Amino acid sequence: MNDDFLHGAGLDTLAVRAGHARTAEQEHGEPIFPTSSFVYGSAAEAARKFSGEEPGNIYSRFTNPTVRTFEKRLAALEGGERCVATSSGMAAILSTALALLEAGDEIVASRALFGSTVSLFNKYLGKFGIVTRYVESSDLAAWEAAMTPRTRLLFAETPSNPLSELVDIAALAEIAHRHEAWLAIDNCFLTPALQRPLALGADLVIHSATKYLDGQGRAIGGAVVGRDKELEELLGVVRTCGPCMSPFNAWVFLKGLETLGIRMKAHCENTLALAQWLEAHPAVERVHYSGLESHPQHALAKRQQRGFGAVLGVEIEGGRDGAWAVIDATRLMSITGNLGDVKSTITHPATTTHGRLSDEQKLAAGIGEGLIRIAVGLEDIDDLKGDLARGLDAL
Ligand SMILES: *Cc1c(COP(=O)(O)O)cnc(C)c1O
Repeated sequence: MNDDFLHGAGLDTLAVRAGHARTAEQEHGEPIFPTSSFVYGSAAEAARKFSGEEPGNIYSRFTNPTVRTFEKRLAALEGGERCVATSSGMAAILSTALALLEAGDEIVASRALFGSTVSLFNKYLGKFGIVTRYVESSDLAAWEAAMTPRTRLLFAETPSNPLSELVDIAALAEIAHRHEAWLAIDNCFLTPALQRPLALGADLVIHSATKYLDGQGRAIGGAVVGRDKELEELLGVVRTCGPCMSPFNAWVFLKGLETLGIRMKAHCENTLALAQWLEAHPAVERVHYSGLESHPQHALAKRQQRGFGAVLGVEIEGGRDGAWAVIDATRLMSITGNLGDVKSTITHPATTTHGRLSDEQKLAAGIGEGLIRIAVGLEDIDDLKGDLARGLDAL
C-alpha cells in the first residue's frame, strides 16, 4: 500500500485515513476479512510465504488484513514503526513480558497500576522468576533507587487511576536507557490524541483498545506499539502463543479510531467543567485531576499532555457513607468499574476496584473511604452536574 499522501498528516487525518489498502473491489470503507486462512497459487508460492521470503497472508492468528489495517493506523497515531494487536489489554502486557523478559529479570513499575497488571506481574510472571518492584509514580529518585543490574523493564501508567498521579515520561526514559532497560507506558487513559509517549522517549506503548480507542464499550482488545526490533519479537509471541485480535474486533476499533480526536476533546471539555464545578462544591473535599490548577503536577501535565483525560478522583465529605450516598443518588451515571465509554461511570474504589487491598495498602495508595471515581462520558454537562448535585446537596 502507498501511504505517501499521508506523510506529515495530522492526527485526525491519520485516524480517518491511515492503514487501509483498498482491494480490487475499490471499497470506500475498510472491509472485514473473516477468514482463518489464505490460499496460494502454487506449492512454490506457499513455500515462499511460509519461509517469510515473500510477504503475505498465511493464517489469521498472525496475518489478517483487517487486523493489519488497525495496527497500521494505531502505529501512525502513536508515531511508532510498528504495532501488534492483541486479544485484550492484558494480552498486550503479557505478550510484551513474554517477548522481552526471561527468568531472573526484574521490572520496576509505578505503584498505581491497573489491578490485573499487578496480579499478572506478581502472581504469573513471579512464578517464572521475574521480580517486580513498585515505586511512587512521581518520585524519580525512587525509580532510580529501585534499579538493579537485572532490571530490564520500567512500566508505568500516566495519569494514574483514580488519583491522576503523573510520571515524567522523558525523565523516566532517561533513567531506563542509562540502565539499558526498556520503558513501556500504558497509554490507555490518554490515547495518542492526548499523549504520545514514544516521542517523549518511551520504547513501547501499551493499549487496552477496550477503553477509548473503541470508546463505546463494544469489544475487548489490546495493542503494543514501538520499534520494528521489539515488535518482531512480540509478533513471534502472538503467532506462537495465540492471543490475537479477531478481524471483527479490529474493524470495531478502526471505526472507533476515526472519531478518537473529536471524542477525546469532548471528554476533556466535559471533565474539566465537571472537575471545576465539583471543586467549588461545599460537600467535596478534594478533586484529583491533572487539568486543575490545584493539581501538584499541573505544569508537567501541560508540558507532556495535549489534554487531561476523562477520569476524576473526588473525595466526598462523610467517608464511605457520603460517597455511597452520592453514588446511589445518581440516575444517569452507570455504577460500574468500566471506563473509556461515551456513557459516564461512577464507582467507589475502596470497596470495588481496590477492595482486595488491606487498610494499610489503601492508605499507601491514597484510596480513602470518601473517594469516588468518575469516568466522564459525553452526556450533556448540565445533566452530569445535576446527577451529582442530587446526592451532594443532600450531604
Ligand atoms: C482496562 C485496562 C487494562 C486491561 O485491558 P483489557 O482490555 O481489559 O484486558 C490495562 N491497563 C489499563 C490502564 C486499563 O484501564
